[in-house]
Amino acid sequence: MDGDCIFCQIIRGEKPADFLYRGESVVVFKDIHPHAPVHLLVVPRRHIRSLNDLTEGDRDIISEMILVAKKMAREQSVSDSGYKLLFNVERGGGQVIPHVHLHLIGGW
Ligand code: 5GP
Ligand code: ZN
Repeated sequence: MDGDCIFCQIIRGEKPADFLYRGESVVVFKDIHPHAPVHLLVVPRRHIRSLNDLTEGDRDIISEMILVAKKMAREQSVSDSGYKLLFNVERGGGQVIPHVHLHLIGGW
């Protein structure tokens, strides 16, 4: 169920997270198990299960996620050194949390 999703709980403030950005449609918080010095999750407020569930109507949210990621990279001082943006899709693609999110990884 959507309401049981961990990221929906974090977005509703029912579960703590280290937020770096709270926008109208997208939020950013630190990954609880970072794989690099900077490891952030860019997450739409609306519950979308995976990239497979995107529709034509989701163009704006996906664009916003990438633009917010770029802004966060600048704020975290990894723009020039470089970073990865990663979507894991479904279990075989390594997606554990069934709520679309973009990993921003860098700072090595
Ligand atoms: P996925 O494998 O689904 O693409 O990535 C999920 C990410 O969410 C993982 O990197 C994992 O460490 C992170 N994560 C899982 N549970 C929590 C949580 O409760 N809080 C935060 N901040 N990150 C979480
Ligand atoms: Zn959710």
